[in-house]
Order: sequence, then C-alpha cells, then structure tokens
Amino acid sequence: MSRYQLFINNEWVDPHSSRWLESQDPFSGEAWAEVPQADTVDVDRAVQAAADAFVGPWSRISASDRGLLLHKLGALVERDAERLAYAESRDNGKLMSEVLGQVKYMAKYFYYYGGLADKIQGSVVPIDKPGVFNMVRYEPMGVVASITPWNSSLLLTAWKLGTALCAGNTIVCKPSEFTSVSMYELAKLVEEAGFPPGVINVISGYGKDIGDHIVSHPQVARIAFTGGDEAGRRVYTTAAAHLKRVSLELGGKSPNIIFDDADQEKAANGVITGIFSAGGQTCMAGSRLLVQESIHDEFVERLLKITRAAKIGDPSKPDTQIGPVATRPQFEKVLRYIDIAKSEGARCVAGGRSLEGPEYGAGQFVEPTIFVDVDNSMRIAQEEVFGPVLSILRFKDEEDAIRIANDIRFGLAAGVWTKSLHRAMLLSERLRAGTVWINNYRSTSYTTPFGGFKDSGLGREGGVEAVKEYMEAKSVWIST
Ligand code: NAD
Repeated sequence: MSRYQLFINNEWVDPHSSRWLESQDPFSGEAWAEVPQADTVDVDRAVQAAADAFVGPWSRISASDRGLLLHKLGALVERDAERLAYAESRDNGKLMSEVLGQVKYMAKYFYYYGGLADKIQGSVVPIDKPGVFNMVRYEPMGVVASITPWNSSLLLTAWKLGTALCAGNTIVCKPSEFTSVSMYELAKLVEEAGFPPGVINVISGYGKDIGDHIVSHPQVARIAFTGGDEAGRRVYTTAAAHLKRVSLELGGKSPNIIFDDADQEKAANGVITGIFSAGGQTCMAGSRLLVQESIHDEFVERLLKITRAAKIGDPSKPDTQIGPVATRPQFEKVLRYIDIAKSEGARCVAGGRSLEGPEYGAGQFVEPTIFVDVDNSMRIAQEEVFGPVLSILRFKDEEDAIRIANDIRFGLAAGVWTKSLHRAMLLSERLRAGTVWINNYRSTSYTTPFGGFKDSGLGREGGVEAVKEYMEAKSVWIST
C-alpha cells in the first residue's frame, strides 16, 4: 500500500500528527493507499509556505512566465494522464474512461489560464479634474485555499488552481479526506514543471478538524470551496466572521425538461447521461425529470429500455457504464433516500436496491433507480441525493414546467429538450439556474462561467471573468 506525505514548499513531509488516513477503493473495498491526516500545525505550515512564496519568488515572476509554468503543468498532466486518472478512479470509483477524459480536459484548463495570465489589463479612467489621472490595476489577493469534494478532486481543483495562479496568487489545496491521492499525484508534477517552492501546496485531512482553521486563517485571503451546502454554509459563516473573500460551488437538484416536440431518442440519451454519469454523483446531475403529460408514458418506456441495458460493475473495465457509489456513508445515504421516496408514495419502476455478487466487488453499488408519480413537494423531488436516482414529474405546458422547475431552493443547472426556438428562448430566460442546456446536458467548458443561483452557490468559475474574482481592483490617483 502506498503512503503519501504532505506536499508543502515543494517538499514531502510527514504530518505533525504522525497519523494517516486509509483511502478505500470503493469497488474492491480494499484500503489501497494512506494519506496524511493534517492538523492545524500542518495548515499553518502550508499557509506560511504559500504566504512566503506570494511575497517572495512568485511576486518576481512575470505574468507571461506564470503562464508558461501553467502550460508546462498542463503538458505534464497530459503526459501522466493515465497515472492521475488511475489514482482518482481507485479513490472514488468513477469509471476509468470518464476520469481519463476529465484529466485530459484538466490540462486544457491550465493551457487556457496559462494563456490568459499576461492578458489581464487594467484601465485609465477619465476624471473630471484637469491634471488628475486615475488608473485601475488588478492585483492578486494572496493565499487562496481550495477545498474540494470527493466526486472530482482533480478537475474541481484545476478550476481553482488555474484561475488563482493565473491571477498571481499562491494556493493551498485541501481535497476531500476520501479522495486525496490524485492530488498528491498531481503535486509530483509541480516541482517538475518548475514552480517555485510554496506556490502550490497540498494537504489532506478531515474538513471538520481543519476546515475552520483554514477558512479563518489570517494569512488566507480567499477561499474557493466546492462541496455540499451544509459545509458550504459553515465555510460562508466562518469566512464572514473574518471578512474573507469566498466562492461556493454547492449542490443541485437540477430539472431536465422534456417537451412533446423534442427529439425523444436524443432527449432520452441526454437524460440518462445527465443522471447516471458518474453514478449520479455530480453536482449537475439532472435528477429531477419533468416530462410533458402527453408523452410521459412513452418517454418513460424509452428510459427504462436504456436503463435496463446499462452495464454496471468494475470501473476499470472500458465497457462499464455505471460504477460503485464512492463512499460507504454516501451508499447508505442513497439507499435511505430510496426508502424515503417509497414511503412518500413515489412509484419505483427501475432499480431501487443495492447490488451484490462477484461482479459488484465489495457491494457498494446501487442499481440505477427511476421513480415516477413524483410530486414536487416530496423530499425525493427537493433534496440532493447524489446517487443514481431519477425522479420523474409531469407537467402540462410551458408555464407549468417553469413553475415546477423553479420551485426549489437550488439553482445550479437545467436542461430543456424542444425543437421550438420560442420555447428554448423563453425557458433559457425564465429558468433560475446558473447553466441552461438546450438539447444537450452536462456540457461544460473552461471558457464559460459555471456556478449556481440560489442555494447552489456564490460566484462563478471558468471563463475570463472568473480571474477577476481572484483579484483586487486598486484605484490609483495621480496628480501631475
Ligand atoms: P462536503 O461538503 O462534505 O465536503 C467538501 C469538502 O469540504 C471536503 O474537502 C471536506 O473535507 C470539506 N469540509 C467539510 N466540512 C468543512 C468545514 N467545516 N470547513 C471547511 N471545509 C470543510 O461534500 P462532499 O460530500 O465531499 O461532496 C458532495 C457535495 O459536493 C454535493 O453536495 C455536490 O453537489 C457538491 N459539489 C458541487 C459542485 C459544484 O460545482 N457546484 C461540484 C461537485 C460537487
């Protein structure tokens, strides 16, 4: 079993606690690696290293050279994509094929933000007094703390890391206690790329033990958090007490809306990808399906046909379509929600149970599950399950669809399937969500903003604008 150390100041160091956490492979159930359990002393060490690098070597590197370093990191990620993907897939049980795609995509984040590093411009602002000039400069904030969940350690950190470094900040990355190995594997590339010590640091440990200390740390200027809304609220509260800049990418319960004029085959495939990719363990899962009454039964039949044919099992096999649930607590949570849905009166037409047998390894699998006759007031329609569970609701017309879709506290994403341009435009305007997909689902890109309305979060990642969220505007007045 491999044992990792903390990555601080470009050095591998043991945790102050001399304690390690076991990383479990969700498919085999095997403890396959050990990651350090950082405590507050380690947080202080990592933050100090990042703070020293910020005022030291990193501040003397030009924006163009910062960009080149990000490019180098991207190239190394591409070179070592298999190794990185293997680590993440073993840690969270995601399909190897899917993670490999994500890792290659992660390299593009680094290229994109590397290219942007020397293109962030300020401005000279007209002033109504002769001989007085005003210019606006954009400056990095300092040390950024990245806190990420278990479902996509690498990619979710890449959004933060790419943007933060592009802007000239340094960073301390704290991945989930369940899935830290891939981040340590990434750290192996940091020194090779040529980053000065302290610019990128990786520590692992329980959020409940060190989270508050990271967020309230006087030398941390900004927190970039992705995770559940419970921890997100806690981070926001702690950050507020210390007036910290913060972005929160939180949960979702996203509606996927199928109109009677949609290309049903395309829509059905989009719905299945939307909910069952990564076993439903994605923030943007299209877990609330709204189907127009007139096509409801026919469309559900299509979904059942695809669902029944899904290949479930070993995530390392190339033909597997649905892997295990990433962690034991999450597995139990998904099963609990299935029981809740049944007790609320929703009708289970597919799945609804865990899977056991040699092809299901240690037995952390939930059969892809579909509920019909779901009412929007039910918990199964309102709460994030984060597993392979789809709730299907009916609607009458456009207004009804918009009303049901928006009647929820989340607002991360929404899908709409229609051939009508009018409907597409109407819904893209009226849906209260940070992303609206028309006739597609789950598309994302580093070139465009991603984030949530309402309880799904605060701030945006991706695109050019996101860089300014990692910078302070400074107004400089000059009298001649
Ligand atoms: P989580 O909230 O339990 O943990 C996320 C991270 O926060 C972990 O690193 C954890 O150690 C840390 N943490 C926990 N308590 C903390 C505290 N008090 N202070 C600081 N950090 C703390 O989430 P999870 O179960 O790992 O991930 C699943 C959740 O993440 C889902 O709700 C999902 O929707 C969300 N998510 C959102 C997005 C998005 O972009 N909006 C993307 C992926 C996942």
